[in-house]
Order: sequence, then C-alpha cells, then structure tokens
Amino acid sequence: MGLSNFSNKVSDFTVSTDPVFKCRDCHATATREEMSNYGCRCVRCYESWCRQAPAYIPQKDYGTDPKGWAKRIIDKHNDGQRVSPIALKFAQEALGSRHGV
Ligand SMILES: [Zn+2]
Repeated sequence: MGLSNFSNKVSDFTVSTDPVFKCRDCHATATREEMSNYGCRCVRCYESWCRQAPAYIPQKDYGTDPKGWAKRIIDKHNDGQRVSPIALKFAQEALGSRHGV
C-alpha cells in the first residue's frame, strides 16, 4: 500500500468518523464527543438537563435501565435524602423488593 493510498484512507476516515449525530432533545447536530460525553445530547441540552436533574444523581447506568427511575429514588432514599413516601413505595414495588431499604 503506497503512501497516497494510506492518505486517502486517512482522509476517508476523518470524514466518516463524524456522521451526523443528532441531539435527542433538540435534534441539533452534535459532535461524536458531545454524544458520548453528554448522553446523546448537545451541550446546551445537557446543561439544561443538568439543571433540571437533581445533582445527587450519579452517572450510573440508569439511562438504559427501564427501572432506572426507581433505582434513582431508592438511591436517593438510601443516601438519606428526602423522598416522597409515595415515590419510594412505587420505586420499591417497581423493583419488586425492598431493595435494602
Ligand atoms: Zn440539544
């Protein structure tokens, strides 16, 4: 493989590494870095999402977990933070156990 061939491959790669990523909230195009760093959001949406999301939420794998919301409530409760008793009850039921609470 000659150098020019290699260069072609490199430039192909450079062009194709960033197919169009779209923010899942505002559908603006975003970079791959933004997508991976901010959970498929652009920086703007990530920041506004952060403002809405309570700061206690650790970046666990809640995102792909259908019961992530429940675990989040349980974790918050376990962390000694105030949780609505109803929310806690639903969370416990959703997880199908007392889950150490
Ligand atoms: Zn966005």
